[in-house]
Amino acid sequence: MTFEELGLSKSILKAVKEIGFEQPSEIQEKSIPVLLDNERDYVGLAQTGTGKTAAFGLPMIQQIDPDYRAIQALVLCPTRELCLQIANELEAYSKYTEGVNVVAVYGGASITDQIRKIKKGVNIVVGTPGRTIDLINRKALSFDSVSKLVLDEADEMLNMGFQEDIDEILKSTPPFKRTWLFSATMPKEVEKIANNYMEDPFKITVGTKNSSAKNIDHRYCLVNGRDKYYALRRFIDVYPGMFGIVFTRTRKEAKDVAEKLMNDGYNADALHGDLSQAQRDTVMGKFRKRNLQVLVATDVAARGIDVDDVTHVFHYELPDEIESYTHRSGRTARAGKSGMSIALISPTKSSRIKLVEKQIGKKLELIKAPTGEDICGVQLMNLIKNVQNVEVNERGIAPYVAQIHEHLKDFSKEELVERFVSVEFNRFLKAYQKAGDINVDPGKVRKGRDRDEKPSRGGRRDSDANSNRVFINVGKMDGFENKGQLLGFICNHSDIEGTSVGKIDLFDSFSFLGIEEESGQQLIEKMNGKRIENRDIRVEFSDDKPKGGKKGKRKTESRGERRGGKRGDDRGGNRNFKERRKRR
Ligand code: AMP
Repeated sequence: MTFEELGLSKSILKAVKEIGFEQPSEIQEKSIPVLLDNERDYVGLAQTGTGKTAAFGLPMIQQIDPDYRAIQALVLCPTRELCLQIANELEAYSKYTEGVNVVAVYGGASITDQIRKIKKGVNIVVGTPGRTIDLINRKALSFDSVSKLVLDEADEMLNMGFQEDIDEILKSTPPFKRTWLFSATMPKEVEKIANNYMEDPFKITVGTKNSSAKNIDHRYCLVNGRDKYYALRRFIDVYPGMFGIVFTRTRKEAKDVAEKLMNDGYNADALHGDLSQAQRDTVMGKFRKRNLQVLVATDVAARGIDVDDVTHVFHYELPDEIESYTHRSGRTARAGKSGMSIALISPTKSSRIKLVEKQIGKKLELIKAPTGEDICGVQLMNLIKNVQNVEVNERGIAPYVAQIHEHLKDFSKEELVERFVSVEFNRFLKAYQKAGDINVDPGKVRKGRDRDEKPSRGGRRDSDANSNRVFINVGKMDGFENKGQLLGFICNHSDIEGTSVGKIDLFDSFSFLGIEEESGQQLIEKMNGKRIENRDIRVEFSDDKPKGGKKGKRKTESRGERRGGKRGDDRGGNRNFKERRKRR
């Protein structure tokens, strides 16, 4: 099918042609005729990279009445990055359409500038929910005449806690408008919006429900926590043309991994919440221009990243919210291209693979971290390919040729080849000559074992991660059904690495953790004073014996009774927290 056949106006077709879209993507083909009809509300299950911006943007622009000077369309999206991108795309699509004015409103930029732009007269507003509410409250925006409302990346907006803002904005729009909702996944909360605010919507799914794009290879590699960085490096080295994003769970991890990569000579940088907006823009600018080969990012910071041609997505840790896996992976294989998603999984977390598989509706393929030999072979052949394809600047090197021949005259052709190749290749040989096998044998991952599993080599968990023991006054009564949940909560709130935690004893109203000293200190600093609903969290080093000998056991019990008794009054708060966790 062609764009001409979809019923688009000449001026839009001209812009589309100029942008270089040759054929409509699947979602465009299926959605544009329906949205041009304007008869029904609409739900599109699709993620970024499918061409959904044009799928709603083109019909939206075509239906703007240039003679009616009022806001006729509102697009809500989760991040500033996405907001700017959508606004830019809408401007490009409307280049030859008279009277279409788009304004982007988002946080972190001057609100007065945005108000000035609005006052000049706009008919399409693209906004993040927070800033949009601000502008409504300041009476700078009014949506009385909005006839199209787009909720883009609805699941992300809800994940980011915009539910109330969205409700409020929706209430300020008239009942006669059409609502078009796009979401990569369909959690209950998004379904609720569709049920509450939309009338018998027309539904389209591109790819399968709750799944990632078809052209992504989903793989995982089993390595111990301490070998993850090495596994990552090996994957980067074995794909010489890779242009990728590494997702981490915490800011600290993003910083650490990026720093290590930079120290090891990789073109990498980090993107996380500790950076200012200007710093984030700089990093993103570099990545967009491909001046960076590897971007190491947290989920939150990476929201809305839409960079084409990303070949690989790595999950340094799987996300807490399994649904984020789909968003992460969707950063590759955009616009019909293919891509690879590789999760680096430590044996203690291997049970989470099933959750991912359930989420995306397909199996993850187990792959091995490449060996030193694999990498050296690939790099050598890559070098040879570069030699074959390199453009020789004869004029540029002419002044030196005689001198070069003089220096090399005693070498045979074979020797010359070996020497030239070695100049580059030695770097990899050196890096990998002692590289052993870091893969964990999947047959040796003991089922049902959780945090207490011993690493296969070295035993750092025993020596360091259990070298200290901390007490924390949260337990099963706070809604933690297993040790993994407690660990996730603790790592999230203190930025310590999961690998620094060893044995966990989870009791009803308190818990003990084996932990490395430094991480224990950080945990105490960061968690003390935080609250679970209406109760202060307390963390302290325990003088208990690490592995619960007689003395330890007695102490544990007595402490437990003490804490349990003291906590009697707080039960309501605990229950609330438990309910809140369940609701999430
Ligand atoms: P989106 O899913 O809207 O973020 O679009 C992903 C990328 O695909 C963007 O860079 C678009 O410019 C590009 N794109 C959208 N539609 C088409 C098309 N029909 N042909 C080629 N590229 C497209």
